[in-house]
Amino acid sequence: MPRAALMMACVGDISGQVRGKGFPVAHLARRVARGIGWTPTNIQITCFDTIAPSPYGSFGDVVLWPDPASELRVVLPGRASAEHVVLGDITELDGAPWTCCLRSLLRRTLERLTERTGLQLRAAFEHELTMKGEAAAGPAFSLTGFRAAQPFAEMLLGALDQAGITADSFLREYGRRQYEVTLEPCDALRAADQAMLLRELTRAVAALHGQSVTFSPLVDPAGVGNGVHIHMSLWDAEGRPATHDPGGRHGLSGVAGAFVAGILAHMPALVALTAPSVVSYARLTPHRWSAAFNNLAVQDREAGVRICPVSERDEAGRTRQFNFEYRAADAAANPHLALAALVAAGLQGIDDRLPTPEATVEDLSLLDVATLHRRGLRRLPASLDEALRELAADRTLQGWLPPGLVDIYVAHKRAEIEHIGGRTLEEICAAYAEVY
Ligand code: GLU
Ligand code: MG
Repeated sequence: MPRAALMMACVGDISGQVRGKGFPVAHLARRVARGIGWTPTNIQITCFDTIAPSPYGSFGDVVLWPDPASELRVVLPGRASAEHVVLGDITELDGAPWTCCLRSLLRRTLERLTERTGLQLRAAFEHELTMKGEAAAGPAFSLTGFRAAQPFAEMLLGALDQAGITADSFLREYGRRQYEVTLEPCDALRAADQAMLLRELTRAVAALHGQSVTFSPLVDPAGVGNGVHIHMSLWDAEGRPATHDPGGRHGLSGVAGAFVAGILAHMPALVALTAPSVVSYARLTPHRWSAAFNNLAVQDREAGVRICPVSERDEAGRTRQFNFEYRAADAAANPHLALAALVAAGLQGIDDRLPTPEATVEDLSLLDVATLHRRGLRRLPASLDEALRELAADRTLQGWLPPGLVDIYVAHKRAEIEHIGGRTLEEICAAYAEVY
């Protein structure tokens, strides 16, 4: 009997999960033209599959519009069906933007950046992950460790290649059974799409190797975390790099310095969106090489924002390679929402003509609060609860988001906190490792 091939139209939601509906591949054109029905309250499904209080209840309908530009079709060896996914934006039935469509929020925020500055953002997501189970994974950065994952990694990079996603590198990271995969920079909306698709493809490929992976921010309370570092660079309308100025402070152009300053100014609230789980805050602690302060540093792996090294030999190449990374993100975050918030904060910094921040050079955990304050630095929130309070207090940040979204978001995250309440850190790590 012939099978009817199916594909899925998906969205990333507040919980950072990818959810959607399947339909016959043959209907794609029709689905692009008339959309797919979606349920508003789905946005309140938490990462633990409970439903947080929803203003929509059982009412209403919205439409998910598949975006053919995001279509991914990958044939994995040993699988009868292709991995076939298309991402989409959600609108009201009459086509008006929907409050909780995070992908169109990113799209609109990027358009705002370009309208106001003439600049475009390129981004690259760098993901760390942990192989579950107890099979040997060799020492950190070792060939043994690399070899242990090589069949998986080669299939994953092949799958990415088929999907038109270019990997930059794959390595055996420092943490126990930890690996890292980095993608090459591309236009920011696509980069966020790719971050979502990478996680799904990684899971699919691992399963074919009898393995299971987790991107959860912290798997072992005593270990290092799994970060998602978001690399960013600005480009002008002619495709010329606009991030680097050899004469600028720390090599940043004025506009890139203001963009970074905007991010740092709002970082205590931004983390509620970029590191949005209870376990995220066990990762964002000093000496885990993640990020614990709203500081800029040059090549320091404990910075909130780090100016990354460049290795090209000639000046033009160095200018093209020049980028900074935001380190306080993780895979519990929706990549579209996280990036939209970063871009909005960066644009605010440009609008406010903020000066390029001074880079820190010391261990900030040794400084007292008064000294940090004098230098415009703050310890990032120590819990999701604290981060949500920062979010609720940051009126500027709220102004960048559609009216109503913050209330829905906070209700969602409060339900997640309640669900996980009363557990030990070990139990919390275990619970999140099951869902991310
Ligand atoms: N594992 C660290 C984190 O949680 C990052 C280590 C590194 O690649 O610099 O962000
Ligand atoms: Mg790493």
